[in-house]
Amino acid sequence: MSISISAANKLLDALSITPYDLLEHLDEIARVRGALVVEGDLDGSEARLNMAGKPAIITVARRVTDIPRRRFSTAHELGHLEMHRWKVTLCTSTDMMEWNVKEGSQNLELEANEFAAALLMPERFFGSLCEEEPSIDYFIELADQFRVSLTAAAIRYTNFTPEPVAIVLSQDGFIKWFRASREFEEMKLFVDVRSRVYPGSRARLFFEGKTMPTTPKRIAADAWLRPGNYNRDATYS
Ligand SMILES: [Zn+2]
Repeated sequence: MSISISAANKLLDALSITPYDLLEHLDEIARVRGALVVEGDLDGSEARLNMAGKPAIITVARRVTDIPRRRFSTAHELGHLEMHRWKVTLCTSTDMMEWNVKEGSQNLELEANEFAAALLMPERFFGSLCEEEPSIDYFIELADQFRVSLTAAAIRYTNFTPEPVAIVLSQDGFIKWFRASREFEEMKLFVDVRSRVYPGSRARLFFEGKTMPTTPKRIAADAWLRPGNYNRDATYS
């Protein structure tokens, strides 16, 4: 088990945290762990942890009004407090989207994000919900239920689903990175990172400024995947 998952589980156990606590009392959870959550004007960053005094101060940028984003930022900074113990840390919105696993090096932002996901969507409450088939509509339901972003819910889903599923982040029309379920990895499938988002895919519609339906669409497997261990005529939803 990674350091971030075990740190989140330790906290959940220590405070006997319920799903209701997570939804309604996240700031109090931080307070009990030694950090006061406040909002403030932060230039260019999303959240800050200052450990110079007691209590430590978690500042969330005032301009971040989206509740799931605020909650994730708070949990992310709490992760730095629990695991890293720096004096001051400034975290940007890019840090909050750091899900890229790099072999061999410790990635503190990834650890803080994994901590936040494991705290806000604990395996004990979230894991069994991932038996359902994947769909954007279902991820929206999970995101609403746990008050997290759609991206955070979808990424966490890959940790528990028995299905081969990959969540892909694309930016400016190009595939940036993906997070895959264990089943997907065991099939030795790889999303074609750095390639252009495939014409005709749902995601491409977004980059063309069109409305992106949430219903699944079958598409040639090689629209998303690197050539590999699958039938060339295979299609995926
Ligand atoms: Zn951070």
